[in-house]
Amino acid sequence: MFMKPHIVMMLIFTSGMSTHDLFAQQDSSATITPFLGEDAQQYVSSQKELIVCSVAQAVGSNASIDIVKLITKNTGLNVIASKPMSWREGVNGLKQGDCDILPWATETEERKQFMNFTRPYARTIRVIVTRKEQPYIGSIEPYLHNYFVTETNNNIVAQLQHEYPSIQITRTESTLEALELVETGELFANLASLYSVSNLFGNERFSELKIAGQLPSRFDDVVSLASHKDNLLLAKVLDKAVMTTNQIEIADFMNQSAVYTYGREIDYSRYWYFGLITVILIISLLWWIRYLRALNYKLETTHKELEEKSYELEILSTTDSLTNTYNRLKLDDVFIKEIARSNRYNSELSVIMLDIDFFKNVNDEFGHIAGDQILIKFAELLKTNLRDNDILGRWGGEEFLVICTGIDSTKAVLAAEKLRKIIENENFSPASNLTASFGIAGWKKGDTEESIVARADQAMYTSKHQGRNRVTLIESTQS
Ligand code: GH3
Ligand code: MG
Ligand code: MG
Repeated sequence: MFMKPHIVMMLIFTSGMSTHDLFAQQDSSATITPFLGEDAQQYVSSQKELIVCSVAQAVGSNASIDIVKLITKNTGLNVIASKPMSWREGVNGLKQGDCDILPWATETEERKQFMNFTRPYARTIRVIVTRKEQPYIGSIEPYLHNYFVTETNNNIVAQLQHEYPSIQITRTESTLEALELVETGELFANLASLYSVSNLFGNERFSELKIAGQLPSRFDDVVSLASHKDNLLLAKVLDKAVMTTNQIEIADFMNQSAVYTYGREIDYSRYWYFGLITVILIISLLWWIRYLRALNYKLETTHKELEEKSYELEILSTTDSLTNTYNRLKLDDVFIKEIARSNRYNSELSVIMLDIDFFKNVNDEFGHIAGDQILIKFAELLKTNLRDNDILGRWGGEEFLVICTGIDSTKAVLAAEKLRKIIENENFSPASNLTASFGIAGWKKGDTEESIVARADQAMYTSKHQGRNRVTLIESTQS
């Protein structure tokens, strides 16, 4: 069972004890100093400031100075906090005059030798803090064979030993140390005032601890303000102050301080840590998406460039660079496909071979460069006067070849004749007129590229021999 500190604290101040025993009745509307006697008033006005021993009763909080301020607010005393100190340092500090007021002090006969105590201003239960796995402890008695730990300032040790002679108690300087010993399993349980441990709960380090039970009320932590034995006037002022302080205000202070510290000690660094990790992850993700997009864009661009290059390469590898007609490689390729098609489907196919007449003379007369220009113009003329389906290529030198798909040799003769006339009538400046000799061959079953080209070549040479500028057809004898 885990008891919530602030809830338990509330119970103490409302029903846990007789407030008449602890607190003097008072008027909540009490005002400054009238309740102090003349000597006390003189003492107050002669004091510049008094130092509160800031004992680590409430670790990490200003609880020591705050409780003294609360109690003495109507006295006119000016109180300031000392540097934080352990309980032992606080007691010594008070003895030696390094500090003047020690809060959270429990009156004992021994301490009364050198300290004055006010009447108690608060009472808190003492709890049994164990590791989480320990079940609820209804009574301490069955557990006396275990080892307990408590802080040095805890005055109940003698009382406990008196009531439970077999109890074994280790003492530590602070509640923090005591809790650590319990957390590591070295000792069974810490006996501490609820107020002091409530300030330490919620600390990430003690997530394995719980309040397993409480000691009977006779062991309650009853606290007063202590001052130096010799300073009787201060003791008087402080006692009056406790007497006139509203007990509800003190109860509120104890509750709030406990809850406040509890809240403060929640480990927010974990949230920061997760927040930071999330932010880093989001940034990395965004960066990664951006990087992938850039990479993708680069890939697409490279892919396009590659496609263009490969297209250019294909053109280059299949085109004659001077005349911009297909080269032998491409013609061979077309022949393979078209002859295969004709052989399979008996589709018509014809070949026109043509060679410019006396082109050597053109070069001789006008030079090789002019000859090139004329070759370019000649090829252009052929291209513009052929059908889209016809495939024109440069066979070599001034010799061209046309693969006419889908037409028989008779139609090819007509097409060649048309070209012959166009060439004859064209002005190929600086060569005034130019003619060409044509040879035609029609596809016959079983033809290969070599066989059909050989016939066209033969026909073209026939044209040459018969006087040039003419078209000759070699009739194919179908096998
Ligand atoms: P014919 O065909 O009528 O018998 O006479 P021809 O003079 O045309 O015959 P030949 O085959 O002997 O000569 C062909 C000439 O074509 C030789 C060469 O100078 C020329 N020739 C071939 N290719 C090119 C070229 O790319 N550029 C130029 N300028 N001339 C070329
Ligand atoms: Mg030739
Ligand atoms: Mg020629």
